[in-house]
Amino acid sequence: MTSSLHGAPALVARLGDILLRHQATIRHLQWAMVAIYAALLAVPLLLALPTHTDYLWNNAVRFAQFAFWGVWWPFIILATALIGRFWCGILCPEGALSEFASQHGAGRAIPGWMKWSGWPVVSFVSTTVYGQLTSIYQYPKPAALLLGGSTFAAIVIGARYGKAKRVWCRFLCPVSGVFGTVSKIAPLHFRVAPESWSAGDRQDGRSKAVNCAPLIPIKTMQGAAACHMCGRCSGYRGAIRLCWRNPASDIVHGSGRLATMWETVLIVPVLLGLVPAALHWSDSGLFQMIRLWLVERCLDLHLIWPLSLRLPWWILTDYPLENDVMTSVDAGAFLILLAVSVAAATIMFGIPLAASARILRMKGHFPHHLAQALIPLAAACLFSGLLSLTVSQLRSDGIVIPYSDLFRGGFVLSAAAWSVVLVFRIGTLYDLGLATRISAAIIMAVPITSFSIAWVGAFLS
Ligand code: SF4
Repeated sequence: MTSSLHGAPALVARLGDILLRHQATIRHLQWAMVAIYAALLAVPLLLALPTHTDYLWNNAVRFAQFAFWGVWWPFIILATALIGRFWCGILCPEGALSEFASQHGAGRAIPGWMKWSGWPVVSFVSTTVYGQLTSIYQYPKPAALLLGGSTFAAIVIGARYGKAKRVWCRFLCPVSGVFGTVSKIAPLHFRVAPESWSAGDRQDGRSKAVNCAPLIPIKTMQGAAACHMCGRCSGYRGAIRLCWRNPASDIVHGSGRLATMWETVLIVPVLLGLVPAALHWSDSGLFQMIRLWLVERCLDLHLIWPLSLRLPWWILTDYPLENDVMTSVDAGAFLILLAVSVAAATIMFGIPLAASARILRMKGHFPHHLAQALIPLAAACLFSGLLSLTVSQLRSDGIVIPYSDLFRGGFVLSAAAWSVVLVFRIGTLYDLGLATRISAAIIMAVPITSFSIAWVGAFLS
């Protein structure tokens, strides 16, 4: 994805330069975000849980809930897909705190274990599951524990490793892998042109190296997945510019070609398997069936304790006054549901992916490049699922957004169509035969269409 920068539209490139020139303002903005974030986490802890007469506009607990789960989480995903990871580089309080700690910290070398490429998947899965087990969307204590704990870990990692770097964001942040994946479809990115780089060596007055906090080797940067869009490298050596791009280009011709197994794991079993189940488990008929089956097994075995044992709120949801307690059986049924959903997504998409790769004669390892075509679908699934929280929170306060379900349905189906087109376009790189590429696209269209219809049905029901 490297080409000359001469054609870069001046307006967008200027936006990158504005970011570069206003780093001090960005720093102030980040501290303001830290203050807002701390208030949203801490204030609800001091207040009673809301009752049915409390609304998001007259109750701080409800307001914080809505701010975190109704606005912050879904709309950062949407913004990342539309404009890239500006949130990470400009507004994220956790990244800012980690970098600040690193600036004043021990500056140790990054240990090898931290560079394991499976961490983004492991940390995302574990925080998602733990969040659901403790009902993070409903109660302030698990939200403070999980989000606050993540921020604390980000500060500790920053204070120990790297100098003015975001080691946490690059290797361990639970949502970094998801943001990186979703940002591949963003039409904005910082483009590097190595051929201009050497000329810039002689022309550009800025000889001082850029501090790229997420540790990207800027000169050879591929795509925008790891870039936090902070703007610090804008115009560097005349070779880096904020530019528009075709939203499919990174997946088809850029970093998608270098996709790894962990990226495929994040897209297929996690975003298309675990996430839908984790977001809709309480409404799931399958969950109720599994739960009933577990209850019957316990009764058959005269095991009563799994049906009644209550664990502390930081292990399983435990709010008896709210009539909201998760027993061991509920938790077991939830975990089985997740496992079933993960297995179903792996089989449902894995077999067609392998078949499509075979007819396209994609050589070597599993067709990770082809799996990248599922990114639009996975991003739309995540956004529309999270939007359920926004819609349900607003509905519980009497605010109904007209056509929101139709909008979500249309969004998912459009993304599904785009994923099929991407399969066809990726196929072009491997097989020039039109019939072969159409066959590969049709094979992949089967699970993509089935999944989309099932997912749209889940939130329309
Ligand atoms: S490559 Fe690094 S320095 Fe440049 S915009 Fe991205 S995060 Fe910032």
